[in-house]
Amino acid sequence: MIQASTPRLRAYSAGQLEQIPQLAGIGHEQRFEMRVVASVLPFRVNDYVCRELIDWDRVPEDPIFQLVFPQRGMLAAEEFERMAALHRRGAERGEIDALAREIRAGLNPHPAGQQALNVPVFDGDRLTGLQHKYRETVLFFPSQGQTCHSFCTFCFRWAQFIGDRELKFAERDATRLHAYLADHREVSDVLVTGGDPMVMRTKVLRGYLEALLAPEFDHVRTIRIGSKALTFWPQRFVSDEDADDLAALFERLVRGGKHVAFMAHLEHWRELETDVAVRAVRRLRDCGVAIRSQAPVLRHVNDCADTWARTWREQVQLGIVPYYMFVERDTGARGYFELPLARAHEIYRDAIKQVSGLARTARGPSMSCGPGKVEIQGVAEVAGEEVFVLRFIQARDPAWTNRPFFAKFDPRATWFDELVPAFGEREFFFESQLREIETVGVRRSEPARGHAHARSH
Ligand SMILES: *Cc1c(COP(=O)(O)O)cnc(C)c1O
Repeated sequence: MIQASTPRLRAYSAGQLEQIPQLAGIGHEQRFEMRVVASVLPFRVNDYVCRELIDWDRVPEDPIFQLVFPQRGMLAAEEFERMAALHRRGAERGEIDALAREIRAGLNPHPAGQQALNVPVFDGDRLTGLQHKYRETVLFFPSQGQTCHSFCTFCFRWAQFIGDRELKFAERDATRLHAYLADHREVSDVLVTGGDPMVMRTKVLRGYLEALLAPEFDHVRTIRIGSKALTFWPQRFVSDEDADDLAALFERLVRGGKHVAFMAHLEHWRELETDVAVRAVRRLRDCGVAIRSQAPVLRHVNDCADTWARTWREQVQLGIVPYYMFVERDTGARGYFELPLARAHEIYRDAIKQVSGLARTARGPSMSCGPGKVEIQGVAEVAGEEVFVLRFIQARDPAWTNRPFFAKFDPRATWFDELVPAFGEREFFFESQLREIETVGVRRSEPARGHAHARSH
C-alpha cells in the first residue's frame, strides 16, 4: 500500500461551508440558510462524504445530504428568522452566539438517559467518562473521541459538539476505567462510544482496550465500538497511517478471547456502495470482528420501508448483522426528523416482511429513554381498546425485560413521554420501581436488586 497516495480526511466546519466545492452549484439563498442553521446546530462534514455519498443532482432531497447538511426546517420558523436577521445585518459573533445559546436551550439538549444522572460515582469522585445504566453494560466515552468525522444533523449527543461542558463525559484516565471494571464483575460488555471513538488514533484506543486482556478482566467478554466511520471514513480501516495497527489491535483482542463487536451506525444502503466501504467491512471481518448495524428511522433520510429492506439486505450480503432500528431522540432538530411512533412501526413491519430471516435480527423501533429501551411491538385491539403493545429490550431493572405492556394508541405520539397507560391505569407497571432506582442512585447492582426482582412479578 502506498501511504503517500492515501487521501487524508479533510473536514469542513460551519465557517468553511463556502469552501466545499460541491456547494458552489447550490443557490446563494440556500447556502445562506445553511449558515444560519449551522450557527445553532453543530455542523461538520468531510470530503469523502461530499464526494462519494451525496448525489448532488438530487440535492436537497438526497438522504445523505439531509443527514449531514443543515436545512432551514431544522429550526422553528420564528427562530430561523431571528437568526437570519442577525446574519443579514452582519451582527457580531457575540450576538450570534448569545441567540444560538438561547435557541439551543429550547431544543432539549439534555434528553433523558444522556444526563450526568447516570454517571456512576467512583471512590467519592465523579467518574465522568462512564455511564452504567444497565447491569451488564458500561458505556465508555473516551475524551479523545468526543467528535466525529462528520456530524449527523439529528445527533442526540449534539450538545457536546457545541462545547456544553455539562455533557462532556470526558474520561481523562484509562486507569480509572480499568479500576471500575475490575471492581464490577457484573459487567460483561464495554461499549466504547463518543462522538465517534474511531476518531481516536489506534495508539490511544490501544491504551484503553489492550489492558482488558489481563485476567482480572475475564468477566468483560465483549468490547463494542459504536461508530459511523465504517461508512463516513472507511479509509480509517484500510489505508490510514495506523489502519494496520488497528487491525492488529482488533486481532489481538479477538485472539485473546474477547468478542469485538463493531456497532456500525448505518442509515442508508447508499453508504455501502463504495469500494472502500466494502473493503473496510471485509477488513474488519478478516480480523474476527463482528459488525452489527443500528440507526434511527428519520424523516427526509430513511422513512421508507423499501429503503430499510434494501439496507438490511445489503448488510446481510456483506456479513453485517442488523441490530437496532431506533426512534430518533427527543432532542436537537427532532421536529425535522420525527415520525409518529405508529408510522415508525409501520415502516419496520413493512421492511421486515420483505427480508429473509437472516435480516430479521433487527429489533425496533426502539426508544432509548430513562427506564430503558422500549420497543413498539405493534398496535392491537385489547378488550375493545386500541393499544400499542410495548416491551423493554433493555431495562433499568433487568426483571422488566420482555414483559409486554400496553399504552393507549395515539396516532400522533412521537416519543415515550407522550404515551399513557392503556385500560385507564394510573401508571405503567415499572414506574414506582423506577422512582426508587432514581432516588437510590446508580449503584443498583447491589443487594436492593433482589428485592426489586421479587416485586416485579
Ligand atoms: C442501547 C444501550 C446499551 C446497550 O444495550 P444493548 O441492548 O445490549 O445493545 C447500553 N447503554 C445504553 C445507555 C444504551 O442506550
